[in-house]
Amino acid sequence: MLRIECPLCGERPYTEYRYGGDADKRRPMHGAGGIEAWHDHLFLFDNPKGPHREFWQHVQGCRQWLLVVRDTATNIVAEVALARDARGMDRQGPGER
Ligand SMILES: [Zn+2]
Repeated sequence: MLRIECPLCGERPYTEYRYGGDADKRRPMHGAGGIEAWHDHLFLFDNPKGPHREFWQHVQGCRQWLLVVRDTATNIVAEVALARDARGMDRQGPGER
């Protein structure tokens, strides 16, 4: 079973979390890109094999958004950080996208 080490609460099963999507996917700029760009953003998703940066929210714990690097082939979690503290992050969790 996938387990994620929350920086605040400790290691917990994935069932305590809500998946928040691809952390590297960027929303089209307001007023730019047209309907095709929004269609692609909302409905087209990559299906990577290997390390993947993703958002998870600890909904049954501290409710913080986390940035998790998870290998999609093995479910091994390599890194976990609070999304607000993650290096290179220019936004918070998916609720603020
Ligand atoms: Zn937590």
